[in-house]
Amino acid sequence: MRLSFMGQNIRIFKNTNKGFLSVEAAIFFPIFFIGVLTLAYLIRFMSIQESVFHSFTDEARVLSSEARFNVTAPLFESKLKTRIYDENGKDIQELDLENFQYLYYLSAPGMISIDLNYYIDIKLPIPFIDKLPVSESLLFRGFVGLERPFAPISIEEMEREEPSHLVWIFPRAGGRYHKETCTYISSEPRQLTMSKIIRQRYKPCSICKPFQLSDGGLVYCYIKWGEAYHKGSCPAIDKYVVSIEKEEAIQKGYTPCSKCGGG
Ligand SMILES: [Zn+2]
Ligand SMILES: [Zn+2]
Repeated sequence: MRLSFMGQNIRIFKNTNKGFLSVEAAIFFPIFFIGVLTLAYLIRFMSIQESVFHSFTDEARVLSSEARFNVTAPLFESKLKTRIYDENGKDIQELDLENFQYLYYLSAPGMISIDLNYYIDIKLPIPFIDKLPVSESLLFRGFVGLERPFAPISIEEMEREEPSHLVWIFPRAGGRYHKETCTYISSEPRQLTMSKIIRQRYKPCSICKPFQLSDGGLVYCYIKWGEAYHKGSCPAIDKYVVSIEKEEAIQKGYTPCSKCGGG
């Protein structure tokens, strides 16, 4: 009698509870479900991003160690793309390398910088999440196996997004430093690093025939009116200008131009 009373009691309690649970479930289950999916999504997303970044830094390490032989952007790009697509399949889309620069930062030669952009597209049934863009940047030194007469680049310098204050000099001649707009500078050939943009904008010089130049190598162009890019040994290039940090120019004994004030 006591048991059956208890049984009844329990049954009533259960029934009530069930009713309550089903109402609660109707409200909270979708929220719970979305929560679990979102979490699953974030975990996948982060593990893919981690895997891509690992491949990126690993290939960059190889590039750095081989920098004394060759630094070729297209080769690096194709190697990296093949590896990342192989490892991650269709979760990765529109992988693209940008701003591949070598020796671009004159106070710290041998630096290589690369930006990597891609989309992570995870197939999960979440209608409101489309593929997400990811951008990674690397800045590292190409190992060339040479002692260089420059101080190691500091963390602050590496973190600085843009050179703080550039002036223009004639590195072969020394002397004055100038503003970019100074007429002494604007009409002279500029030392640049070879890139896709230069190939698009200029033709190879017919005298020095700079066909062997790979991306990242040094080229010389008359920015204002030139149509060709040249090798440093070309007779058309007897002097050229480069930009350096103002502080560095002063340290090296350059003095401000009397015409433009030096910038
Ligand atoms: Zn000047
Ligand atoms: Zn030439």
